[in-house]
Amino acid sequence: AWNGPAIEVQNLTRIYGSTTAVNDISFAVPRGGVFGYIGPNGAGKTTSMRILATLELPSAGDAFIQGVSSVNDPDRVRGSLGFMPDAFGTYGDTNCAEYLDFFARSYGLIGRERTTRLRWVMDFTGLNKLAYKPIRGLSKGMKQRLCLGRALVHDPAVLILDEPAAGLDPRARIELRKMIRTLAADGKTILISSHILTELAEMCDRVGIIEQGCLLATGTVDEIRSKLRKTRNMLVRI
Ligand code: ATP
Repeated sequence: AWNGPAIEVQNLTRIYGSTTAVNDISFAVPRGGVFGYIGPNGAGKTTSMRILATLELPSAGDAFIQGVSSVNDPDRVRGSLGFMPDAFGTYGDTNCAEYLDFFARSYGLIGRERTTRLRWVMDFTGLNKLAYKPIRGLSKGMKQRLCLGRALVHDPAVLILDEPAAGLDPRARIELRKMIRTLAADGKTILISSHILTELAEMCDRVGIIEQGCLLATGTVDEIRSKLRKTRNMLVRI
């Protein structure tokens, strides 16, 4: 079993043409930790999360999930990682049950294990009553639940959640926070992003400010809040 950090980012850099989207970022999240990425639009949160999730390659550096390199061993990383993207695609007439079943199969879940797992995901996300509804008819809040459910289908040890609260009403935000706190209490390691610090406060042990591709500071929520006040940083909401 791996005893080091569950998530480790080492000198990660991603350059697109003349834009350095991610600029030499390094940090680590211990097993069971919840780390928040706070930063404005275009800071590099999505790019670095997508690299961790094996969906993109870095220009330099590496990212590790439970000691396994996302660059060199993406298949093994995918098995222990759940990723919630910041945008939900379009899925025509697909319903929630079919959607989750598709992902469960893609992770190789079969037979009773798949049924049990899908039932747990439906219960946990509260999607039971909506199981046979087409995804396109769901509210934003329910789509986010489905997206979280998709990330949980193979019971991964590590979760990467890209701005899960964006566009949600206050009540859906509270419910989402509750689900994430439950997952954290269950021992999952979580990396979550937002551009509102308060949004992350109740969930994260530590947060990092990311701006123009650089990780400017990491610390507890209180430390980062006072730092943002001192520097009168207007790019993120405290
Ligand atoms: P947001 O909150 O808007 O999602 P973010 O912090 O997630 O922002 P990224 O999406 O990682 O930021 O973008 C970082 C920078 O890299 C931006 O300047 C963006 O325009 C640029 N970028 C991202 N992906 C690409 C790409 N495929 N090609 C070119 N530039 C890109």
